[in-house]
Amino acid sequence: MVHFVGAGPGAPDLITQRGAALLQTADCIIYAGSLVNPALLGLAKADCTIYNSAEMTLEQVLAVMRKNEAAHKITVRLHTGDPCLYGAIREQMDALDADGIPYDDTPGVSSFCGAAAALNAEYTMPGVSQTVIITRMEGRTPVPEGERLASLAVHGATMVIFLSIGLVDKVQAALLQGAYTEATPAAVVYKATWPEQKTVHCTVGTLAASTRAAGITKIALIVVGDFLAAQYDRSKLYDPTFTTEYRKGAPQ
Ligand code: SAH
Repeated sequence: MVHFVGAGPGAPDLITQRGAALLQTADCIIYAGSLVNPALLGLAKADCTIYNSAEMTLEQVLAVMRKNEAAHKITVRLHTGDPCLYGAIREQMDALDADGIPYDDTPGVSSFCGAAAALNAEYTMPGVSQTVIITRMEGRTPVPEGERLASLAVHGATMVIFLSIGLVDKVQAALLQGAYTEATPAAVVYKATWPEQKTVHCTVGTLAASTRAAGITKIALIVVGDFLAAQYDRSKLYDPTFTTEYRKGAPQ
């Protein structure tokens, strides 16, 4: 059996209880070494075999999984954040399906949630934005034509940009082609929830310069939108005059 597990954004105590229990029972852990906090490997059994997938190809990862399965061993495939975002899990799952190897998936706290926590921010603010766009700048990995950053930027929604801090100049230019202005608030969160976490508040107009000034070149998210500004509407849910299934609103 193979267990895909979300490691969370970095802090070792932000893995789920289920994920931690699976790490404790694993005979083999294949972890995404570029981003997963190695402290989590401390949960492994003394005789657990550990591989760093940053140094492996898909074929090598699959070969380890097949070997473990043949020996009736438990494999944990440990991905950063939640495996469903930029985790390259589908290609592994399809290969396991083809081989008849059973697997399951344990979610994790994605770094986009870790970044919001680092900023004490809410992405979905009434009267500001009710939509979060999770995307990336095209780089060596292409992005479908209809999802270019500049076209997504026309909505002016909250945007969380993964895997793009090395292309921050292009990100800034693309954002300005949409609904954001030079003055739209933005932030860069480096290593959210790690001890070395760093947050940089800026605007879209100063995004690239602020990132450079902070010396941030990797493991960072760019977040953009007026959710970072001071203006918003109160929630309806907790408004004294609003009636819900659970609470009768007072007359205005
Ligand atoms: N599945 C992961 C994302 C993997 S893609 C998740 O759910 O978070 C790798 C990218 O995620 C990095 O380039 C960076 O943009 C972002 N990232 C991962 N961990 C991060 C962290 N702790 N702080 C900021 N960004 C992070």
